[in-house]
Amino acid sequence: MSDAPLYLEPRLAPRPTALLADGVFLHMLVDALGSPLNVVLPDQIAENAERFRDVYRRHSLSGRIFFAHKANRSSALIRHLAATGPGTGIDVASLGELQHALGAGFGADRIVATGPKDPEFLWLALLTGVTLNADSAGELEQAAALIRTHGLRRVRVLLRLSGFGTPSGVRRLSRRSRFGSPAGSLDRLLDTVERHGDQLEPIGVAYHLDTTSPDEKAIAFAGCLRAMEELRLRGFDPRALDIGGGFGVGYLAHAAQWDRYTTALTDAVLGRRPPLTWGGHGYGLHAEGGTLRGTLGLYPAHREVTGAAYLDDLLSRPAPGLDRPLGTLLLEGLYDLYTEPGRALTDQCGISLARVLDVRSTDGGEHLVRLAMNAGDVSLEDHGVLMDPVLVPRAPAPAGADAPVGVHLMGNLCLEADLVTRRTVFLPRLPCPGDLLAFANTAGYCMDFGATRAQQQPVARKAAVRRDGDGSWHWCLDEQYWPITRTGGPQA
Ligand SMILES: *Cc1c(COP(=O)(O)O)cnc(C)c1O
Repeated sequence: MSDAPLYLEPRLAPRPTALLADGVFLHMLVDALGSPLNVVLPDQIAENAERFRDVYRRHSLSGRIFFAHKANRSSALIRHLAATGPGTGIDVASLGELQHALGAGFGADRIVATGPKDPEFLWLALLTGVTLNADSAGELEQAAALIRTHGLRRVRVLLRLSGFGTPSGVRRLSRRSRFGSPAGSLDRLLDTVERHGDQLEPIGVAYHLDTTSPDEKAIAFAGCLRAMEELRLRGFDPRALDIGGGFGVGYLAHAAQWDRYTTALTDAVLGRRPPLTWGGHGYGLHAEGGTLRGTLGLYPAHREVTGAAYLDDLLSRPAPGLDRPLGTLLLEGLYDLYTEPGRALTDQCGISLARVLDVRSTDGGEHLVRLAMNAGDVSLEDHGVLMDPVLVPRAPAPAGADAPVGVHLMGNLCLEADLVTRRTVFLPRLPCPGDLLAFANTAGYCMDFGATRAQQQPVARKAAVRRDGDGSWHWCLDEQYWPITRTGGPQA
């Protein structure tokens, strides 16, 4: 039936499931700390890192998992991760992130500095002795000059490459990157490294591709293995291959809901059914004379193979043109594997809560739900993630108010464009003022990446929560969280 509710229910791990079931606790938190409110689950990031470590073990690989800090600003998450052991590190991409990582307890040997770097960031990275994931030849020159000028120690560098071709050189990666040096100019890059041999110690090469495609990643991976060989031939001693992040998250619980939704969206764009979005927005699709045009600009919200399983799959793939698994080639080269998961390590690590302020109907019979939150506070939409919020009622539903309903979620800014999502969201019933909507799985990029103080609305506070053996929840402010108890013992 075309008007059956098009739910997109979130996939929920046991920990967030239990948290969302405790409505009394969540209402208590929002009453105390205000709406919007972000809640993070430090134990979950440790569990996720352990899953990645399992994959390393399965492939007999040594190396390190560097959490890409930019996915979330939380202190609790990175302090907890810092306490999980030497196998986990952190990838920082700004001066502030580096300071935050050092302050959370990561030693320099567990930090890699990525992305283009401004001089202060570069200087602090060099002074503290973190590994430099170098973005360009210019950055290498700059680093060498700073080391000479300030009498600093030689720095370990990874050479970030991009734009790999297949071995035959015929096909090129379609995806270009603003970051990294062209793989084809490795020789010139190595000239630079050689020239500054007293300042730069190349320990290997790196890539990071913002794609879900394992085929593209396998091409880059194999390209990096060839580059390692070139380093060897030039007399260097490369020992680490950094394959970046992009292992992904599966956001939705049911593949069938995602298929049904995207089909319905296509039908709506073609005018075969009423719009599914505010103002007929098509998420990149539009109709031209009855034909569908454009490409769907959305994250593939239902994915089967993500996170650690995606890494496992990648390592098991034959290297393009070599027919031997990438993981085996890595092992034979005695290379360490570095990974930089961001989104995947924050999977299930947080939820964003918003109080319902107002519910009304338009003349056209559409339901508008206004939230004490704006689009910057939960930037699911910005990141192309479509997923339903979970209704956390304040009181039992009013009699007769339990029919599924399509609503539009409005933000707290006086801007026509401030929609928390442009999509019509289907809920099991119409919410009431005072209820909470919980956006699940927002810890990766969707929680605080785009948060602003627009219109002086409050930026969400962050609470870290943990569950006792007896099932009761405890919380503290994110910045108050340390992975020890008040009496100095380990957390249970
Ligand atoms: C953003 C980024 C990552 C993390 O990417 P995810 O898709 O979140 O895993 C890793 N490495 C670099 C260099 C990045 O810029």
